[in-house]
Amino acid sequence: MARVQNPPTTTLGYALFATRWLQAPLYFGLVAAQGVYVYKFFKELWTLILMCVGGHATETYVMLAVLKLVDVVMIANLLIMVIVGGYETFVSRIGLQGHRDQPEWLSHVNSNVLKVKLATAIVGISSVHLLQMFVDVHHTSQHALLWGTVIHMAFIFSAAILAYMSGPMAAHGDRAHAARPPVERPRTEHTPEPRPEAVTDAPAVPRQPDPDGEAEARIRAAGFPARKLLEDFDERHPRGFDRETVARLGKAEFVAARRNVVFVGPPGTGKTHLAVALGVRACQAGHRVLFATAAEWAARLTDARAAGRLDAELAALDEHPLLIVDEVGYTPFDPDTAGLFFQLVAHRYERASLIVTSDRPLGRWNEVFGASAPALTDRLAHHAEVVRLDGESYRTRRASAAWAD
Ligand code: ADP
Ligand code: MG
Repeated sequence: MARVQNPPTTTLGYALFATRWLQAPLYFGLVAAQGVYVYKFFKELWTLILMCVGGHATETYVMLAVLKLVDVVMIANLLIMVIVGGYETFVSRIGLQGHRDQPEWLSHVNSNVLKVKLATAIVGISSVHLLQMFVDVHHTSQHALLWGTVIHMAFIFSAAILAYMSGPMAAHGDRAHAARPPVERPRTEHTPEPRPEAVTDAPAVPRQPDPDGEAEARIRAAGFPARKLLEDFDERHPRGFDRETVARLGKAEFVAARRNVVFVGPPGTGKTHLAVALGVRACQAGHRVLFATAAEWAARLTDARAAGRLDAELAALDEHPLLIVDEVGYTPFDPDTAGLFFQLVAHRYERASLIVTSDRPLGRWNEVFGASAPALTDRLAHHAEVVRLDGESYRTRRASAAWAD
């Protein structure tokens, strides 16, 4: 197939797009400002301590000083929000997905979300200021008090309007996305020609142009260990490979249907490859995807439970219509962790999709999940496509072929 030449406008567009890096130093400047606030905080704190120790601190003074500290912290929070959120939105992805400290809002950050977050943070700061005035009402002029209140109301009003508008705007974005006509994506240097033997007969996901890089952003956010495509999968390799099923799954319709996929087979037969490839297709079809190994999911859920927010974590994961759990079976789980996996599977049952890969058949999952296994596999497999892969490892086959040459 002939390569498509990039028209010059695209190059120009890329050059313009690259100028976003000019913003990067600004964010580091804000980091320096953050440092100034840290300094200010400790200076205020030190003064407060000295006053208390010296016995000069009245109750009102302490309250005002503490409010001032809260104020400084809130402004510091605002700064972090602008630094991290702004950098992620306007400069480059930071790749925090799956990080245990990833702020809840960052996974769905866009300029709308950021605006609303900023507006609410500003309302918070102005509340503290107003409170300071009220506490110190004897030293505050009526004029200042009046204007403080009016300005605070204006902040609340604008935050409410922004929040109200961000709803319809997000919905409009989704609709516009869904309404885009399917167009065959031109192949460029970045999209390799399909190999003749590859699983490509699925016209795949209706190929959409990705001018905003949304699909690309979803792929990057998914945390895939490597980019594996269905087009690169050599279907002659696994023994008795179910080509039709995998090609059908490649249309990513199972995600909208909230069905699951389980890949079972010995090491090196391409389970992770296929799981990632279906994940990429799901991203291209407009779904958000999250990839992690079973051990990583175990750690994440254990942390959430320890922090008393397991339900919140499960609910937050609903924002990803597809989760991939790779390598179930390499390590057996204790009953507590097995229970967490059961909760994950039960929570997503008929609600959202899972792709699971394992080196052992479902009938042997009691070796991994113990007593939770029957209930877990029952829910997982009820609406699932189980794809069995068999044969020798692709890795060793490649190695022995190289030796033979
Ligand atoms: P598994 O998860 O089953 O252990 P992987 O998916 O990690 O195996 O496969 C190991 C390596 O071999 C990966 O780099 C993968 O891309 C490659 N591979 C496996 N099977 C195939 C195949 N049929 N066609 C192309 N590459 C393959
Ligand atoms: Mg694997």
